[in-house]
Amino acid sequence: MTERVSAPETSGVRGSGGDLVVMGPPGVGKGTQAKALAQESGWIQLSTGEVFRDHIRRQTELGRRVKTYLDQGAYVPDDVTVDLVRDRLRSIPSSTRVLFDGFPRTVAQAEALDRLLAEMGRRVAGVVILEAPRDELYARLSSRAMAEQRADDTPEVIANRLDVYDEQTRPVISYYEDRGLVKRVNGVGRREDITARLREALES
Ligand code: ADP
Repeated sequence: MTERVSAPETSGVRGSGGDLVVMGPPGVGKGTQAKALAQESGWIQLSTGEVFRDHIRRQTELGRRVKTYLDQGAYVPDDVTVDLVRDRLRSIPSSTRVLFDGFPRTVAQAEALDRLLAEMGRRVAGVVILEAPRDELYARLSSRAMAEQRADDTPEVIANRLDVYDEQTRPVISYYEDRGLVKRVNGVGRREDITARLREALES
């Protein structure tokens, strides 16, 4: 008879189970970092921005609905965003950890996420905030505009996205801070160094 022994739990966010959230202003590099972390850890990265852009590229019904919001640097309505996340989560096995990237972005989304995860026997176990000064973000977004031709990287739209983040997404940080889930990480430096800082924050 074969005896099955489950892997011992290690301490910290990583070993305790539960899903993770990477937050940060536009241009801070959270998408790149979330991708690297998810790859090395076998987590599933769920980037709402990426999913929206993919729908726009494929000209789906959802893509047509959300295009104007993305082009203007405005947030897609909460109900549309939450529906999308709910759909994605249904296809993810409960044993696989999800790294949310760019979601939740409003307090209403954070509340909806808590409810959704609870229904599925999941929970948010840790939140990392990647930070950089506004000048640096503005410079990075402007150069990405040249390189990638994203419609939401024009100067006015960049300024709008940074303002929207301050108004609507900063309160989400407080929402999670009240539960002691937040770690702040410096997003300025070499890409690999930042990945290492994030990994450390998630493991501690
Ligand atoms: P960035 O963080 O650089 O703005 P993202 O790829 O995360 O890039 O998001 C791009 C755009 O997609 C946002 O400006 C917004 O229009 C839309 N979007 C992404 N995630 C959400 C969300 N959780 N709620 C509302 N809109 C979203």
